[in-house]
Amino acid sequence: MTKLELLSVESDAKTIKGNKKGYLTGILYLAPSTEAGGRDLCPMASAECRLACLYGAGMAGVFPSIKRARIAKTLWYLRDPKSFLAALETDIYRLIVLAATRNLKPCVRLNGTSDEWKLARALAAKFPEVDFYDYTKLPAPWKRTTANYHLTFSFSGTNLPECIDALQHGINVAVVFSGSLPATWHGYPVIDGDESDLRFLDPVGVIVGLSTKGDAKKLTSGGFVQIGGTK
Ligand code: SF4
Repeated sequence: MTKLELLSVESDAKTIKGNKKGYLTGILYLAPSTEAGGRDLCPMASAECRLACLYGAGMAGVFPSIKRARIAKTLWYLRDPKSFLAALETDIYRLIVLAATRNLKPCVRLNGTSDEWKLARALAAKFPEVDFYDYTKLPAPWKRTTANYHLTFSFSGTNLPECIDALQHGINVAVVFSGSLPATWHGYPVIDGDESDLRFLDPVGVIVGLSTKGDAKKLTSGGFVQIGGTK
């Protein structure tokens, strides 16, 4: 794992899979929703997605220091966005250099556990040579994408009309399934979203099927976690 000041690089198995496809991913993990107090960083989060958030998955569920570090980053971002943005830019430059030394292309996901599209889009505009991508629950995501800022809409358990709207506008939808992935969801083909996190490489018009992780395994299927097949 490479340590930059704000971005996590190769800190999880899924983004490491992207290396084989030629990309080095940097992810910013903030404290989601109102975890750090103050402004809600996930205004469209559902009660279930808050419970199942990746914020508490993996090593963050084992070591409280990881959550504390994410809260500290979030407080920095909320209290002094200017210096936070400057540090983030430095990290992205470092990621670009690191990727080049390894013959990989850099890509950045700034909302690993938040939904702050303005931050991501501002930085995407500053680094046109880098692919930026995010998952979002904010409606009408097609209005926020750019040539190098890709969005996948996320099913929250309560936003099916917005999901269909997104699909009809060419935005893929991520859905968490218990068991194995179904062939289709509401008539759209389901692809395996756990093969890598490089969402900007996905074909258009698909459901990005994800397996349950962390606290999502404790949720009853039928809402945020949709019922898949038997494994
Ligand atoms: S919207 Fe995403 S990041 Fe925010 S609480 Fe829900 S799952 Fe977590």
